[in-house]
Amino acid sequence: MTSTLFDLSGRTALVTGSSQGIGHALARGLSGAGARIVLNGRNMTKLETCAEELRAEGCSVEVLAFDVTDHDAARAAVDRFEDGVGPIDILVNNAGMQHRGPLEDFPADAFERLLRTNISSVFNVGQAVARHMIARGAGKIINIASVQSALARPSIAPYTATKGAVANLTKGMATDWARHGLQCNAIAPGYFKTPLNQALVDDPEFTAWLEKRTPAGRWGNVEELVGACIFLSAPASSFVNGHTLYVDGGITASL
Ligand code: NDP
Repeated sequence: MTSTLFDLSGRTALVTGSSQGIGHALARGLSGAGARIVLNGRNMTKLETCAEELRAEGCSVEVLAFDVTDHDAARAAVDRFEDGVGPIDILVNNAGMQHRGPLEDFPADAFERLLRTNISSVFNVGQAVARHMIARGAGKIINIASVQSALARPSIAPYTATKGAVANLTKGMATDWARHGLQCNAIAPGYFKTPLNQALVDDPEFTAWLEKRTPAGRWGNVEELVGACIFLSAPASSFVNGHTLYVDGGITASL
């Protein structure tokens, strides 16, 4: 019984924004639990390179390039995959971006881009995939939120707004779709060294602050998000719905 709780054999998982960073680590981790993985991003060359690397490690990999901010493109790509290749059992809405700047000078176009990339994307791809999941009466959706779903920090107010919305959209998805057999949840990562955070990684003052502020006393490693993602993708989480699971070294637990 226990061995099947976290088994993803025979499942297919689409991870948006999986050509690098957290999405890449989650895709590889889901593959380790037995899933066929579908890589997504906007850059086909980058995706093909990633796919080759993962195939060389023994992963079963498909590639589905589309821009998650484009509602019609997301719908068309998902429908094409479902019709031509097979069902998407697990969706990880991971693609996202950051833009830093004082709120009083924040460019309106950057604000719009953040909204489209971090929150419209979750609606776009979530809706496209959920339509098929609802028809099958089963599916797992995992949205990547952030510690900024709960807490603000200077210079990232718009990002904070989008991640608060991701956590609440997750509750809405669960409320509408649990009755159809879907489990919709979120993972809220703390601070992980990825290209999105390069400015912070390069700033020794930030690392010193982070090590002091985080009870675990360090940055997270992207592989440390995999366990939460497998749990929320697997039979083990069959009655977990609308939850945001913080994987943050305790940063949101303490002042
Ligand atoms: P990265 O910038 O390292 O990776 C982002 C990925 O998303 C890339 O693969 C990129 O590929 C893809 N992407 C970006 N925009 C689009 C788009 N419009 N359509 C399709 N794909 C897109 O980010 P991280 O790995 O750091 O972050 C991943 C998620 O985790 C984000 O939602 C982020 O907010 C969240 N997060 C990250 C934390 C961290 O510490 N790093 C902490 C908390 C949350 P391409 O550009 O080729 O399209």
